Amino acid sequence: MSARNVLVTGGTRGIGAAITARFAREGDRVWYTGRSEDSVRQAGESFAAQGLDCQGLVCDVADFAAVGAAIAAIDAEAGALEVLVNNAGITQDMLLMRMSEAQWDQVQDVNLKGCFNTLRHAVKGMMRARKGSVINLTSVVAHTGNPGQVNYTAAKAGVIGLTLSAAKELAARGIRVNAVAPGYIETDMTAAIAEKAREAMVSGIPLARPGQGVDVAEAVFFLAGEKAAYITGQVLNVDGGLAIHS
Ligand code: NDP
Repeated sequence: MSARNVLVTGGTRGIGAAITARFAREGDRVWYTGRSEDSVRQAGESFAAQGLDCQGLVCDVADFAAVGAAIAAIDAEAGALEVLVNNAGITQDMLLMRMSEAQWDQVQDVNLKGCFNTLRHAVKGMMRARKGSVINLTSVVAHTGNPGQVNYTAAKAGVIGLTLSAAKELAARGIRVNAVAPGYIETDMTAAIAEKAREAMVSGIPLARPGQGVDVAEAVFFLAGEKAAYITGQVLNVDGGLAIHS
C-alpha cells in the first residue's frame, strides 16, 4: 500500500495520539494538530521516541481560516489529503440550569464546527483525487444522553448528522465518511470525571474494562482503509458493549 496523506486533529494526546501513531507505524504521512506550541512539541518528542515520523501543526479546529491555511499548506507540500480524522474534542460539563452560553458555544465550536471546518477545506482536494476517507469521532452519549452534558451530547449527535449527510453527498465522488463512537476510554478527558462516576461507568461495561486509545485507533484505521471500501455513513461503536444496555 502506498503512503497516504493523513490529518488527525487533536493528535497530541489520548485517542488522537494513538490514531496518529497507528497510521505513522504503517508508513503513512501523518500530520497531527494541537492547540499550543508546547503540546504539539511534546507530542512530537513522544512520537520520535517511538521511532515515528509525524508532523505537528498548531491549529485551533474551531478557527475556519486557520484550518484552511493548515490544509492548504499540507496540499502544497504533499498533495491532497486522503484520510481526515476529526478527533479534536473538549468537554465543558455543567448541569443545564447552570450552563453558561460560553460553555455551550465552545463545545459546539470545537466538537461540531471543527468537523465542518476541516471537511469543508479537505473535500476540494479529495474531490479532485476522486478518493478520500473521513472518520469523525462522536460518542456513545450521542445516542444515550448524559446528565451534565447537554452541550457535548448535542455536538456529538450533530457530528452523526454531519457524517450521514456528507456520506450521501460525497459517495459519488469516491469519498467515504464514517463515524466512530467510543464509550469510556482512559484519557485526560475521562480522568477529569469524579472517581465514583467513573467506577459506575466502568461497572456498566459488558467487557468489564475501560477502553484504551489503541482500541479506538484500530477501528479508525480499519474504516480509513481499503478493507472498508464498501462502508460509508456508518457509526461504529467502540465501547466494550456499553451502549448495548441503553
Ligand atoms: P483528550 O482530552 O485526551 O485530548 C483532546 C485532544 O484534542 C488534544 O490533542 C487537544 O490538543 C485537542 N484539542 C482540543 N481542542 C482543540 C482545538 N480547539 N483545536 C485543536 N485541537 C484541540 O481527549 P480524548 O482523547 O479523550 O478524546 C478524543 C476524541 O474522542 C474527542 O472528540 C472526544 O470527544 C471523543 N471521545 C472520547 C471519549 C473518551 O472516553 N475519552 C469517549 C467518547 C468520545 P492539546 O493537547 O493541544 O490541548
